[in-house]
Amino acid sequence: MGNDCIFCKIRDGEMAGEILYRDNHCFVIRDIAPQAPVHLLVIPNIHFTFLSDLTSEKHDMIGAIFSAAKEVAAGEKVDISGYRLVINQGANSGQIVDHLHLHLLGGQLLGNMC
Ligand code: AMP
Repeated sequence: MGNDCIFCKIRDGEMAGEILYRDNHCFVIRDIAPQAPVHLLVIPNIHFTFLSDLTSEKHDMIGAIFSAAKEVAAGEKVDISGYRLVINQGANSGQIVDHLHLHLLGGQLLGNMC
């Protein structure tokens, strides 16, 4: 599972990446090509690609990634000013890494696309 996955490699320490937060379900890194002053990625420990692969045993992990997002948003001091959470799914969204992840964007006024 995810043998060539960059996020699995960062999770396992096989590839460089500063881990800002970690718990039993997920970890958080800074995006290498930030689209906003604060651009973090909240990444489940388990490798899966699509929400359509979601099964009930992953529900705790889904709760955990939102809880982690809340924690790191406060740590980055964007909890008051506001931030956006995005999950890209499939080609039309521009998803390039096939390991599902939550983008956390903030630190500036974000566009009105959604
Ligand atoms: P997505 O388009 O939703 O698949 O987003 C993947 C994100 O991962 C992009 O915003 C990339 O800039 C980011 N990314 C790719 N490689 C790395 C890396 N080694 N460390 C941190 N972020 C990365």
